[in-house]
Amino acid sequence: MIALDGPITVERYMALCLSHPQYGYYMTRDPLGLEGDFITAPEISQMFGELVGLWAAQVWLDQGAPETLQLVELGPGRGTLMRDALRAAAVAPGFLDAVQVHLVETSPVLIARQREVLARAPTSCTWHTALETVPPGPMIVIANEFFDALPLRQFVRSEGGWHERLVGLAEDGSLCFGLAREANAEITVAGREGAVVEWPMAGIAQMRGLAGRIARDGGAALVIDYGHVRSGLADTLQAIRNHGFTDVLAEPGEADVTAHVDFAQLAAAARSAGAHTEPVITQGAFLRALGIDARTAALSAAAPERATEIAGARARLVDATPEAMGGLFKALGLRHPAAPALPGFG
Ligand code: SAH
Repeated sequence: MIALDGPITVERYMALCLSHPQYGYYMTRDPLGLEGDFITAPEISQMFGELVGLWAAQVWLDQGAPETLQLVELGPGRGTLMRDALRAAAVAPGFLDAVQVHLVETSPVLIARQREVLARAPTSCTWHTALETVPPGPMIVIANEFFDALPLRQFVRSEGGWHERLVGLAEDGSLCFGLAREANAEITVAGREGAVVEWPMAGIAQMRGLAGRIARDGGAALVIDYGHVRSGLADTLQAIRNHGFTDVLAEPGEADVTAHVDFAQLAAAARSAGAHTEPVITQGAFLRALGIDARTAALSAAAPERATEIAGARARLVDATPEAMGGLFKALGLRHPAAPALPGFG
């Protein structure tokens, strides 16, 4: 494509790497787990999905226990989070009777996996390729490690202004980064030469869509991902393969190409669509507030032979060390502006 038509934007490159119908990374494989390329919180421990499920049930109660509730998950991976969430949320009387589950997923491989895992779910489950087809009504949206996989634009500061970062071909035929000739006048932030600004247009569009529906029909959303609370000037594009970092341009379609989530931009998009946002906190703080320590103790008491493993999983989810997720990962909660404050956010 580049040889025929010239360089493409980073956004287009990322979209093709992940979602090309034939060669896209997510379209051709299940990337999760030990045998895969990376592991996510619900795959580390059942406690993650359970606490998210209890969170959803509490939000439903706090918002007056509406008779029907669309429980929506964006990018559900293997379906593990939803399975664990529904099992835990069954303790809230009436919740499962109200809930209709909607899974928004584009990967045929992962849809097949989700259908298997959720085959005996206690509620109806419907699959969608976009949020737009989920029926109207009060809605609770869960998105874990979804926004990092949405393509984003990058601009690099040089003399004349901010130039869009492109992917082109080097003389030896390998892929290389370059810059658009014309500066982009829409980017107005200040930055030193060489600074990179990221514009997550696809993420902002997704966020506006879901926040607009919550502002209209009621409900809430929980977004958990790696990223930063304040916008910065940095290149966060990365590629992961086989549990380690690899060159973003080296193996298109064979590695998970993602970027850190800019929670400030996402929260601003949610507010501009009419939703209320809670202050962004770390995953560690969120899970502790929801009771992960009590759950760790209960699971360990029920299975003492697994206590070390359970404590290890808890540490991985909650600790703020570089190897763990508790500090790098953040939680963003949004809700209908008239609804009570969301559980877990302080
Ligand atoms: N939430 C899961 C999986 C995270 S991986 C977990 O925590 O384990 C990212 C997920 O988002 C995958 O299921 C991938 O197929 C899906 N995905 C990526 N881009 C998408 C898009 N544009 N629309 C819907 N799903 C998408």
